[in-house]
Amino acid sequence: MKFISMTSYCLCIYSCVMLTSFALSLFPQITHANEVTEVRVLSAKNISDKLKLAEKHKRTNPTKFNELIYELQGQPNLKNEQKQHLNFLIAFSFIYSGQFDKAASKLRALQKEKLNKLLRYRVNYSLIVVATATKNWSEGLKHIAINNEILQYIDDIEQYQNGLLSVIVFYSQMRQYQLALKYIDKLSNQTLSPTNTCALKQLNLEARFNLKELKLNDTNFNDAIDDCINANFLIPAHIVRLHKAKLYLRNDMPQEALEFLLGHLNDAKATQYPMLIAEMHNVLARSFIKINDLESAKSQAQAALAVNSNVSNLLQGVDTYLLLYEIAKAENSPTLALEYYEKYAEIERANLEGEKAKHLAFQLAQHKTAEQETQIALLNEKNALLETKQALSEAEVTNTRLFITVLIISLLLFTFWGGRLYKAHKRIKELAEFDSLTGIFNRGHFTQVATSALNYCESAKQELSVIIFDLDHFKSVNDTYGHATGDWALIEAISVCKDFGRQNDIFARLGGEEFCILLPSCDIRTAALRAEQCRQAIEGIVTEASGHDFKLTASFGVTDAKTSGFVLEKLLADADSAAYESKHAGRNRITVFTIEEKPEQKQLDSSWSIT
Ligand code: GH3
Ligand code: MG
Ligand code: MG
Repeated sequence: MKFISMTSYCLCIYSCVMLTSFALSLFPQITHANEVTEVRVLSAKNISDKLKLAEKHKRTNPTKFNELIYELQGQPNLKNEQKQHLNFLIAFSFIYSGQFDKAASKLRALQKEKLNKLLRYRVNYSLIVVATATKNWSEGLKHIAINNEILQYIDDIEQYQNGLLSVIVFYSQMRQYQLALKYIDKLSNQTLSPTNTCALKQLNLEARFNLKELKLNDTNFNDAIDDCINANFLIPAHIVRLHKAKLYLRNDMPQEALEFLLGHLNDAKATQYPMLIAEMHNVLARSFIKINDLESAKSQAQAALAVNSNVSNLLQGVDTYLLLYEIAKAENSPTLALEYYEKYAEIERANLEGEKAKHLAFQLAQHKTAEQETQIALLNEKNALLETKQALSEAEVTNTRLFITVLIISLLLFTFWGGRLYKAHKRIKELAEFDSLTGIFNRGHFTQVATSALNYCESAKQELSVIIFDLDHFKSVNDTYGHATGDWALIEAISVCKDFGRQNDIFARLGGEEFCILLPSCDIRTAALRAEQCRQAIEGIVTEASGHDFKLTASFGVTDAKTSGFVLEKLLADADSAAYESKHAGRNRITVFTIEEKPEQKQLDSSWSIT
């Protein structure tokens, strides 16, 4: 069974639809403000009041909001802060009418200005909403980091909550559910509006559903549905129902899923919200397949397709085509089945590209964390330098003669410290992330990045493999030809292996002459092929180039998350034990880890053929 996250449309409900029953028609008028010929010039106080009024009406009374913005745009005497506020409101209107590009350029222009903290916070969280909508993950992470720093200064409770809500939707969309839950916890402690209570409960259930933490008897389902209905916020109520139905399916209870969901189909259609309706049809189709009612399954899947084809609806489309393929297969229509499968594969591929982008953005953020730690270390050094300077400055005042000496010393010190500071910066950064000899990740940084990749692959149900290798008889290379030759061999070995790498691979030196490649979204067979390519490449290194002629080979161990699970230590231990088997069996070979007590190792030596 396969279902894809629903957060993509949560974004729209929480950021667009609920706030914008009013829509596009409103904005062309705003952009034509320059054509106004007669302007009633308002006093500063009046302008302030009208901005406040616009804030008040922006979600509830679009016509009034529109009039106010229109009038304010024509004002010649706006103060700087008022102009910024007005621009923010215009950006707001662009977001909620789905004109994300225009919103982004207005917001970015605002970001460059000197803003008060609250407005900066609002600009940033609006940019998080834009980043989520446009799937610009690294941008989103950047804005989240900025807002985390401002958060403590925000007293306006509504804005504070809106900001956190935007982060929750962003992380859910990125499938970083643990992180989403962390923010949900932060918000849960506060008094929330009925709408926000509903939103938060729905997002909480969604995160926990995806983390497989929910049981069917969980009272939060009904609780959330009640709260959403009371808040007259029906789409999230339906999403909660869908999760409950999916949970029935997860527990092999299709009949219960049908009974639970069928009665709500018409209500869901009444929302006119395509992604929700398509998803509802998909879940119903899946339930009918499970009870072997292919006719009903087909009509549900086709209904989903009809909704999908009206909107470019990537995520639900994947499920629909998979369902149609399964139905056609069960009905013995191979041509149709193939046709559906091809469509499914096509969308799935496009979807996977998006998934990879999410992973990369998350890796990026992890890098940033390491970077920030480096900055803190640097800051300490800088403080030490400033203290030295300050001590010297005090001495300057007391003695003029000493002044010159001190100045010279302080200059010398400054140059000395400046140089050291630069070197320290580089050094700390290198120590923090990279192995200085080979240029690949060191063990510490590897652990950090690998853990995030593991979490990601586990939650996205992606495969993941690990290769460990260790150079053979390396001690004797050092002993016979010297350490420099040993170093040369290490650099060469890594360089030839890197040639086969994919963009997402995480390559690290675990220590000494032991290396690891973590391959996200890669099955064991591809990983074994990759290891074999590396093995051959190392064996093929022309060692004469070092000035000595010697044999350089390595022994490999490979495992994957299917066999070893998604815990880094276990993956490394299993790959290591397979590598040890390779050594034991004569070196210069590959062993794939298997779980049997006495592992039946598949040893792949140079005679192993790559197909
Ligand atoms: P095996 O085939 O069983 O792996 O034998 P081995 O000699 O490779 O294994 P052993 O672990 O006994 O020796 C590893 C050697 O790697 C010892 C150490 O001198 C060398 N080594 C570790 N790090 C470096 C390095 O950065 N540069 C150089 N030149 N040698 C290193
Ligand atoms: Mg070795
Ligand atoms: Mg070793």
